[in-house]
Amino acid sequence: MTDLNWTRKAEITKPHCRPARALAALRSHESCPLCILIALFVLCTLFYYFGELVDFAGWKALHLNFFYDVHDIHRLLFLAPIIYAGYVYRVKGAVFVTIAAFVIFLPRALFISPFNDAVLRTVLFTIGAGIIGSLVGMVRNQSERRSRLEAVIRSERNRMFRMLENMEEGVLIIGPDYRIRYMNQSMVREFGEGMGFHCYEYLHSFDSPCGQICKLPSVTDGATERLEYNFADGRTYETVASPFVDSDGVVCELATFRDITQRKQVELELIELNRLKSELLSNVSHELRSPLTSIKGIVSSLQQEDIEWDDPTREMLLTGISEETDRLASLVTNLLNMSKLGAGVWKPQKERHNISDIINEMLEQQKWAHGTHTFETDLEPDLPEICADYNQIKQVLINLLENAVAYSEEGTRVVFKVRAVDGEVEASVSDQGVGIPIEELGKIFDKFYRGSQTRQRPGGTGLGLTICQAIILAHGGRIWAESEVGRGSTFYLRLPVADAGN
Ligand code: ADP
Repeated sequence: MTDLNWTRKAEITKPHCRPARALAALRSHESCPLCILIALFVLCTLFYYFGELVDFAGWKALHLNFFYDVHDIHRLLFLAPIIYAGYVYRVKGAVFVTIAAFVIFLPRALFISPFNDAVLRTVLFTIGAGIIGSLVGMVRNQSERRSRLEAVIRSERNRMFRMLENMEEGVLIIGPDYRIRYMNQSMVREFGEGMGFHCYEYLHSFDSPCGQICKLPSVTDGATERLEYNFADGRTYETVASPFVDSDGVVCELATFRDITQRKQVELELIELNRLKSELLSNVSHELRSPLTSIKGIVSSLQQEDIEWDDPTREMLLTGISEETDRLASLVTNLLNMSKLGAGVWKPQKERHNISDIINEMLEQQKWAHGTHTFETDLEPDLPEICADYNQIKQVLINLLENAVAYSEEGTRVVFKVRAVDGEVEASVSDQGVGIPIEELGKIFDKFYRGSQTRQRPGGTGLGLTICQAIILAHGGRIWAESEVGRGSTFYLRLPVADAGN
C-alpha cells in the first residue's frame, strides 16, 4: 500500500517534457555536476581561443606566444571535462562532451591553424580523448555494478542469518578446521553455547574428530548428507548437512538439527504395538479355536449313536464342554471390555457396596470352576463402604483370581484379604505361584503384555491386568503387585471409602 502511494506520487510530480525535466534537474541537487561540467567546458574553450580573444579585445599585455603556439597542449585540457562527463554520465556523457569538444576544435583546425596536419591532429586527439572518457565511464559502471551486487549479497546474507536465527531447528556452520563459526539461538538452547569450539568437542565431548562417521570432509567437497544422531542422553536428532560458502570464501558445512526424539519413540511404540497386535491376533484366533475344537470334539463323541456312554464319562465330557465354554467366555469378555474401555463407553455405574460382599459372591460363583485350588478369605469386619460399579469390581477380582490360579501349581492356596487403611479400602489377592521377576512388575499392567515365555498361560491375552487397572483408575483408586519369584505374588487394590453424601 505504502509503495503504491509512493510510486503514484512520483509519477504525478515527474515532469513529462525534456526542457521541463532539464529545468527541474538544474533546480535540484542533480544540477551540480552538470554546472561543473559546463563550467569546465567553458573554461577550456576560453583558454583554447584565448589568443584570438586577446587580439579581438586588444589586450596587448596578454599577447603571449603561448596562446598562439601549437594548440595540442591546450586541447589536452579538454580531457578534464571529457573524463568528468565519463565519470558522472558514463559512456554516453563522455561521447557527447567529446563531440562537443570536436565541434569547438574544428574552426581552429580548419581556418586558423597554420599547420597542414591540424585537422588530423584534432581528429586523433578527439578519438583518444573519447576513448579515455568512455573507459572512465565503463570502469565507473563496472565498479558501481559490483558495489550494488555486494550490497545485494550483504543484504541477502543478513536476511539468511535472520532466518537461521529464527529457525526452530538448531543450525551450525562448521569450518573445514572443525571449528564452529556460527550457531543459532535454538542450537544454544538445546546444546549450550559453543562458538569457536571444535564440533566434535561440542557435540560429542571427543578430543579428536569423529573418524569414519564424520561427514564434514564429504560435505565440504560438495555433498549433502542426511543422518540421525543418537546422543548419550537419549535424544535423537535428524541432521541435514550441506556445503556453505562463508563470507571469506571458505567452503564450510551448514548443518540443521531437528529433535525427533518423540517421533522416534512413537515410531518404536507403533512398531511394538503392531508386533503385539499381530501376536494378539494369532493368539486370539488360536485360543478361540482350541476350546471350540474341544467342544466340537466332545459334542461329536456324545452324538455317536453306536456308543453307550456311562454316567461318569458323560458327566466328565459335559464338564469339559462347560470349562471350555467358560474359557471362551472369559476370552471374549476380556476382548469386549478392552474395546469398550478403548472407546470410552464402559463408564462405572457407581453405588455403595461392601467389598467383602463382592468377594464372597464372586468366590461362590468361581470356586466350583477352579476346584484345583483352595480359596481362603481374611475379611476385616465392619469395613467402610466403597462407591463402585459392582460388576466392574467383580470383573477385576475375577481377573486376579484367574491369574492366581493360572500362575500357580494345583493344590496351592489363593488368599483374599480386605482391610481399611488411611481412608481407603484395600483388597489383596495372594497366590503361592511362580511369581513375577522385578523387572517385569512395571510392565504387567501394559496392554498386551504377557510376560516372559515361561510364564504365559494358554488363553492369555495380556489384557486382563490392563482392564483391571483401567477400572480401578476410573474408580479413583490404584492397583499394584508385589512378588517374589518362586514364592508367589500378591496383587493389591485400594479404593476410596464412599463419602457420607454418596
Ligand atoms: P494374561 O491374559 O496373559 O494373563 P494379564 O494382563 O492378566 O494377561 O497378565 C499379564 C501378565 O502378568 C501375564 O502374562 C503374566 O506373565 C503376569 N501375571 C499376572 N498375574 C500373575 C500372577 N498371579 N503370577 C505370576 N504372573 C502373573
